[in-house]
Amino acid sequence: MRELGIIEDGAVLVAEGKIVAVGTTDEVAKHQSLTSKPAHVKEIDCRGKAVLPGFVDSHTHPVFTAPRLIDFEKRITGASYEEIAEAGGGIHSSLRGVRDATCSKLAEHVRKALDEMALQGTTTVEAKSGYGLSFAAEMKSLEAIREASHQWAGTVIPTLLGAHVVAPEYRDDPEQYLGIICEDMIPAAAKLRLAAFVDVFCERGAFTMEQSVRILHRASDNNLGVRAHVCQLTPAKLAPLVEFHPASLDHLDFVSDEDISVLAKLDTVATLLPAANYFLGLETFPPARRLIDSGVPVALATDYNPGTAPTPSMTLVMSVACTHMKMSPAEAIVAATYNGACALHLRDRKGSLEPGKDADIAIFEALDYRELAYWFGTNRCRETLLKGVHQTGAQISR
Ligand SMILES: [Zn+2]
Repeated sequence: MRELGIIEDGAVLVAEGKIVAVGTTDEVAKHQSLTSKPAHVKEIDCRGKAVLPGFVDSHTHPVFTAPRLIDFEKRITGASYEEIAEAGGGIHSSLRGVRDATCSKLAEHVRKALDEMALQGTTTVEAKSGYGLSFAAEMKSLEAIREASHQWAGTVIPTLLGAHVVAPEYRDDPEQYLGIICEDMIPAAAKLRLAAFVDVFCERGAFTMEQSVRILHRASDNNLGVRAHVCQLTPAKLAPLVEFHPASLDHLDFVSDEDISVLAKLDTVATLLPAANYFLGLETFPPARRLIDSGVPVALATDYNPGTAPTPSMTLVMSVACTHMKMSPAEAIVAATYNGACALHLRDRKGSLEPGKDADIAIFEALDYRELAYWFGTNRCRETLLKGVHQTGAQISR
């Protein structure tokens, strides 16, 4: 996780959305396609800049319509979850917004979030549904993700999170809601190819381990990938989830040493989401050091969502990971790029600058890679290439 493969005075040659060559400027200048037809080449001068693979934000919840300002203000005064809900905040306010919105309105919100992410160096985004919590509203959310992804030059990986919490109508009969997830949502998402993954919030107050296992079973039966939110607020044994070979297990604030040893033997990525800890004002952060030192691959993601992590910034997450989780700046970069790609089963296409991979490139105002996690509260990303398509500053060209 510490090897960045830095090339001083480097260059990247891109054609038709793919990386063709990577090396020193001298090496790349000798590439056959440059010597034979140089007139077609557009050059981006990156002198004095750090050029990285675009960030892979492997955990976001972008389908919502409004910020949760009641939660924000109430939480500062020490209000409880129940008091926030009574004041009209909480997940149910997002739920109303999503259920009432049209698909194109939701897509517009998602698209704005994707654009904002790209301006900060992110080129691949995993996007979850999960604020609809009915068959119709979850399908609409996934369709909005699809619509937004068609309007964006980057790559979006859609995930069904119908199992975010039990829908309020079924609070007294969670079994019935579980039936809707397993018998309606998952088969439909698979059939319509609206999701690549199924996610579940396995936590006190959301879904039990036994319920989570049933949901992931159904996902596997429908040939969808699986991932889970787990150990965010309370400890849980990971063994039942690990059976499904999840691409990623996310949060893991309360993961046990025993389970860390198990994860170290697997391909499953531990995706850590410290922006949520920061925003909730928690004193503890996910145990990155214990995981990395035990050999578990760690990814970092924003957890972009209206309740607990309203940030599109991967560099902010990297900064928090360095200052509060003691990850090194190099580990933070690997976690935000290559390991994020692994967490989405995209390591062949994303996460590093190598010939044959997608031309997803972020150009930062920095003389040293350590500056990425060092500056915070600012955006030093100057240009982003999404599969070769250029995005700069305030203007978006495609
Ligand atoms: Zn999440």
